[in-house]
Amino acid sequence: MRQKLVAGNWKLNGSKASIEALVGGILAGMDGMNNVGVAVCAPYVYIPMTQGLLVGSKVGLGSQDIADQDSGAFTGEVSGPMLNEFGCGYAIVGHSERRALYGEKDEDTARKFAAARKHGLKPILCVGETLEEREGGITEQVVARQLDAVIALEGVEALVDGVIAYEPVWAIGTGKTASPQQAQDVHAFIRGKLAALNANVAEKVQILYGGSVKGANAAELFAMPDIDGGLIGGASLDAKEFLAICQAGN
Ligand code: 13P
Repeated sequence: MRQKLVAGNWKLNGSKASIEALVGGILAGMDGMNNVGVAVCAPYVYIPMTQGLLVGSKVGLGSQDIADQDSGAFTGEVSGPMLNEFGCGYAIVGHSERRALYGEKDEDTARKFAAARKHGLKPILCVGETLEEREGGITEQVVARQLDAVIALEGVEALVDGVIAYEPVWAIGTGKTASPQQAQDVHAFIRGKLAALNANVAEKVQILYGGSVKGANAAELFAMPDIDGGLIGGASLDAKEFLAICQAGN
């Protein structure tokens, strides 16, 4: 049985005061949350502070991106060894916002996946199609291409060191959640694709769903056989809502 994982992606949100309140609220509701993994992915500058707030809790900490290099003349980047020093266990790679707004290519994402893995961070590899791609009937092709870039660089076995997050771009921040069946279909496609290469990897790898997950729809999504939790944007900024989603995976 794969354990469920619920990870919050705070994106470009928060302040010292709001994060202190948010983490306080999350920790206050963690009692009995023993059967679900929980993590929060903070903006870089708030990672040290969030690490401090999470001390002694079972909530994991992650970044929202990672440099593909360890050090050097790469202005603006933050590397795996740096994130290690501040207790990060996860790094989101290839989020659709990085791909669409900052020109990140499949190959860039693959190198970031490799960098996270090399430094013992669990990469959360985001894949997913745009509305145009879905309507064009090429969802599976797009998701396969995004996965293949990582498989080509690191080998399929590497995927067990990470987590996959299926996030249809049309469902992100739009309030339009994929139906449980729509999400399940793509999750099953991903697991089937991996199974053709390595059955053990396919069985073990957690595949999260992301895109307008809320307390009210989490349980029906997480009930699907190939959905192993969620990557949560907007609803992760509200402790009560985030806890309701965690509880759905518990
Ligand atoms: P929303 O939950 O706000 O739709 O965002 C999903 C997401 O992009 C998580 O990475």
